[in-house]
Amino acid sequence: MKTHYDVIVVGGGPGGIASAVAAAREGVDVLLVERYGFLGGGATAMLVNPFMTFFAGDKQIIVGIFQEMLDRLSEMGAYGTKDEPMAFDAEAFKIAAERLCLEAGVELMYHAFLAAGEVSDGKIQSIRIATKAGLKELTAKVYVDSTGDGDLAYFSGAAVEKGRDEDGFAQPMTLNFRMANVDIDRMPSREAMTEAYVAAKGAGVIQCPREDILYFFATQPGVVHFNQTRVVKHDATDPKSMTEAEVEARRQAWQIAQWLVKSVPGFEKAYLQQTAPQLGVRESRRVIGDYVLTSEELLSACKFDDVIACGSYPVDIHNPTGEGTVIKRLPEGQWYDIPYRCLTPLGLDNLLIGSRCISTTHAAHSAIRVVPIVFAIGHAAGVAAGLAAARGVSVRNVPYKDIQSKLLKQKAFLRDGWSD
Ligand SMILES: Cc1cc2nc3c(=O)[nH]c(=O)nc-3n(C[C@H](O)[C@H](O)[C@H](O)COP(=O)(O)OP(=O)(O)OC[C@H]3O[C@@H](n4cnc5c(N)ncnc54)[C@H](O)[C@@H]3O)c2cc1C
Repeated sequence: MKTHYDVIVVGGGPGGIASAVAAAREGVDVLLVERYGFLGGGATAMLVNPFMTFFAGDKQIIVGIFQEMLDRLSEMGAYGTKDEPMAFDAEAFKIAAERLCLEAGVELMYHAFLAAGEVSDGKIQSIRIATKAGLKELTAKVYVDSTGDGDLAYFSGAAVEKGRDEDGFAQPMTLNFRMANVDIDRMPSREAMTEAYVAAKGAGVIQCPREDILYFFATQPGVVHFNQTRVVKHDATDPKSMTEAEVEARRQAWQIAQWLVKSVPGFEKAYLQQTAPQLGVRESRRVIGDYVLTSEELLSACKFDDVIACGSYPVDIHNPTGEGTVIKRLPEGQWYDIPYRCLTPLGLDNLLIGSRCISTTHAAHSAIRVVPIVFAIGHAAGVAAGLAAARGVSVRNVPYKDIQSKLLKQKAFLRDGWSD
């Protein structure tokens, strides 16, 4: 088994897929390590759906590798419906992501859980992964943490934060689930469903902290996707807490599914088709980097010289302790920049963050965490990792203009009027 690579990306979610593909396209050899037997992370293992916005007004501000995924999904007939234009099929996503990686020359290693990072002289010297064949040591010139939870950064001693300042609680977790065989034409309005749900909560039929009904249509006919359960005050990086959270979320999903079938028109012949393979984690660790992005900056459509990705998704904080969701939007048609310095963790010269846990505040994280933006972040992390590995330099010594020019060549959007 080969044990040394130019770049190792840990985690095969949206950020890791883009990181690995982009790094491989720089001509270096890349290994992508993933704990499950498939790619996609939130988009598949957490059954997230649909893609949140990648537009600012009418302008598409996330393109690049994300657009390549959209194109592949469209070709597979697995993207967008009349009722849900940005819905996608999770099974097609797994295949499209795998093909994208393999065609770029990425080596995949599934069923491998990152267990440790060995650091000296401000550099990760090696990582250890837990596999069915035992613990294995791997080395690389440059590493990308795409675990979403900042596992590699944390194991390597990087500074991390969790949750909000006042009490450390992160956004709640949600087990997404799907109801099949729904007579969609007979479903009540969203308002009427929420009214019935609130009444069922009041009558003690449902115990769930979420305040309203949140559903989306899936790509399959008669299938409704529920982003409905809510588990508060749990920690996704603590296995005991995570186990309790999985059990509680499944209880909620089953209870809500039974209520839908019994009480809501259109669901009489429906059934609980699937809960996500794992509980959905919105937020866990955030890795402190050379710059910490705030929500005030995002909401004022901040622009940075070292922009490497853009987003327009609002600040969207599901209450970490109970009912309620805070949404703060940018002015219509505006977008914010994400600077390269948010991807470079303090104190480590050969690590980049290529997933949702870049250097931001709790509130800013709630905006930049969605799939399209994380694809754009991963794209930039991969380009930077490839350049750093090829040149044999610290990730801090890759000029941001070089990263930008490579991103533009690969059809990323960074600024109006910028092209390669
Ligand atoms: C309930 C919920 C609903 C959401 N709804 C939407 C939505 O509708 N639209 C949208 O665009 N976004 C949505 N999001 C946000 C989005 O899904 C995630 O923020 C996004 O998937 C983050 O991508 P990532 O690559 O940073 O991390 P992830 O998607 O979490 O991927 C991380 C990957 O790393 C792997 N991994 C983790 N730790 C290790 C380890 N130690 N060793 C090896 N592998 C590891 C994981 O298995 C996974 O494949 C939602 C999130 C949640 C939780």
